[in-house]
Formats: sequence, structure tokens, C-alpha cells
Amino acid sequence: MTTTQVSARSESFTESVIREMTRLIALYHPDDGINLAQGFPDFAAPQELKDAACAAIQDDVNQYAITWGAKNFRDGIAAKTRRFQGMEIDPEREITVCCGATEAMISAMLALLNPGDEVVIFEPFYENYGPDCILSGATPRFVPLHAPDWSVDRDELASAFTSKTRAIVLNTPNNPTGKVFTREELTFIASLCMEWNAIALADEIYEHMVFDGEQHVSIATLDGMRERTVTINGLSKTYSVTGWRVGYAIASPVLTSAIRKVHDFLTVGAAAPLQAAGAVAMSFPESYYTRLEASYRERRDFIIPVLEASGLRPFVPRGAYYVMCDIADFEMSSDVEFARRLVEEIGIACVPGSSFYSVAARGDQQVRFAFPKRLETLERAAAKLMGLRDAMRLPAQVLP
Ligand code: GLN
Repeated sequence: MTTTQVSARSESFTESVIREMTRLIALYHPDDGINLAQGFPDFAAPQELKDAACAAIQDDVNQYAITWGAKNFRDGIAAKTRRFQGMEIDPEREITVCCGATEAMISAMLALLNPGDEVVIFEPFYENYGPDCILSGATPRFVPLHAPDWSVDRDELASAFTSKTRAIVLNTPNNPTGKVFTREELTFIASLCMEWNAIALADEIYEHMVFDGEQHVSIATLDGMRERTVTINGLSKTYSVTGWRVGYAIASPVLTSAIRKVHDFLTVGAAAPLQAAGAVAMSFPESYYTRLEASYRERRDFIIPVLEASGLRPFVPRGAYYVMCDIADFEMSSDVEFARRLVEEIGIACVPGSSFYSVAARGDQQVRFAFPKRLETLERAAAKLMGLRDAMRLPAQVLP
């Protein structure tokens, strides 16, 4: 008889710190707190998309879609992937629509990993990947991204691959660092995947947020990778509908049939009317994506000098919508202490850096801010952050 009522597996990881910060800001500052912790927009989703979802409900698209995704949505995904990546995919056999990219990742891991397999993960990493590995019985092998530019040391990466390696998680553009992996880096990763017969689990949810002339490259498009990549994406970030929970996994028919089985028994399927709206999103014109990228660049360019003036040292992101910052100048005991005081005393939520590391000490002088917010919200955040130096007793900025 066990002494606890819960599984050892569920006890082997903690609650999401990102979601906890969202709860804390609402608790301490229900009226005027600003949540720059969990990455979701505070602005409206595209009207056309909302109309399409409402119309689908009124048209009674209210019963289960096909478990692996509504045909018109899968056709749309295939067409968009051809348009942006030049990649031909068979919507009948190579796409699984899931409840968010989150479910696509865990379904892929449960479908493709065996207990004892190792999974290479770049660190810092989006916190879900750790529990994803644990839930699928695999062991993560962390490889550092080196600040300030989050570079990869090829020797460190190569030595993480062994005969036990089954997969690498590759998130580009990257959460939390904003790194956009270059074609050269991806080619090197691809060569290791082929040498060790490993799969790339490529989370590309931020594909349309790249700045400074960087280019998003899908590892599936590199020679030899089409058959050994699961490309994960979704509506949440690109179309500002994080609450819809609609994502998808693209993979070869062999991998897809395993992913579809796991997905079916986990969730049966993603919301049918929202998939119908997704089909509309997939045919948005080029100008939608150009505007999206420009608006995120504007937000990034606004928030970086604000963070600098507040005494933080931001690492400028080249993609996605987060900024990691070094907080060493505040001489805080930890990132958690900094984040707690920022919530309580300033009224802004950020994510303690340690949540993105396997060993807390590695991230205890970093925090992450998310900037998918209206400029007006970011301006309010800037006003609050003006009090940060005083509140945290950092000497005034010494001007050169
Ligand atoms: N991806 C977002 C983040 O990193 C939201 C995570 C979540 O809560 N699902 O903040």
C-alpha cells in the first residue's frame, strides 16, 4: 500500500511557474497589475477569425471533428506550409490537429519515445519540455545556450548525443531567449540527428516573429530531415488566440499514425468550430504576417530601453515575444525574490529565470518579460518600472 494518494510521476515535477505568476498578479493587483509573465496578447484577435468561429458555431459545426483534424483545416495547413516553407505535406497522412502546440508536443513524445530514451534540450528551455519528458519516461539531456547571444557550443552539443538519444527538442524562434537558430546551426543539428538516428521535435510556434533581418528556417526542410522531424505549430501566437487551444503536428505518415493514436486517446480532438476558423486563418494574405512582425518589432523596440533604464540588462531577442534580462545589478538573493517583489511592490509580473533551467542556480540572476501587449499597456508598465530602482535600492543610472 502506498503512503500517498498521488503518483510518483506527478510528484516528480512542480506546477508551472509561468501560470502561477499569472495567478499572483491577479491576487495582488486585481485592478491595475500588469502581467508580463505568461505570454499571451492583451489585444483583440483578428475580426475575421472571430467572425469565422461564431459563424461555425451558428452553422452547427458543434460536434466532434475528425480526431486528427477537420479536413478543411488540414488542407489549409498544408497550403500554408507550402506557401511559407516550400514543403509539400499530405494533409491526409501527415497532420495531426491537437489542443494547442502543448498537446502536440506531449502527444509526439508519448508516441515516439520509450522509457530510458534520452532527449536533448537546449537550456534555458520553455518549462513544459521537462515535464513532457518525465511523463513520457524519457531522460532530458540539457545543452547550454550561451548568453549574451545564446550561442551553441558544437562540442557540447555533439557530446550530448549518444546511442540512447532518441530526439532533440528544438524551439526556434526560441522561448525564452529570443534566439533564432541559423541555417548553419540547424544543419549541424540535422547532421547529429542523422548520425545518431534521432528525431527533431521542432516547436515553431513563433515562426512569424523574427526581427533584424533574421530568417526562420524549418529544420524539416533540410536535407535528410523530412522523415525525422515533427514540426509543431498552432494558432495561438500567430493569430492571437492562445485560449482557443488549437495546434498541430506535421510529420511523416509513420510518425503521424503513432501521434494520432496518442492524441485520440488523450483528447479525442480540438474544438471543431475553432478548427473551422483556423481554416480561414490559414489563407490570410501575406500582409497579415508582415504587419504582425512589424507590430512585435515595435513592441520589442519600446520595451528594451525601458528595461535598461530600470536597471535591468536585457538580452535583445531576435525573435518570439520575450526578453530575458540579467538582474545581477540588483544584488537580489534570487530571481524568485526579485519576481515576488516586482509583483507585490511594483505591480508587474515577470517569470523567474530559474523556471527555464534544470538547475535553479543557473537562472537565479535572470527574469523573463513577455511583450505581446498593447503599446498602451507597455507604456503603463514603463511608468511603473520607473519606480524600480528606488523600490529595489539600486543606485540611480550613471549617465555617461
Ligand atoms: N508559451 C507561453 C509562455 O511561455 C504561455 C505558456 C502557457 O501558459 N501555456 O509564457
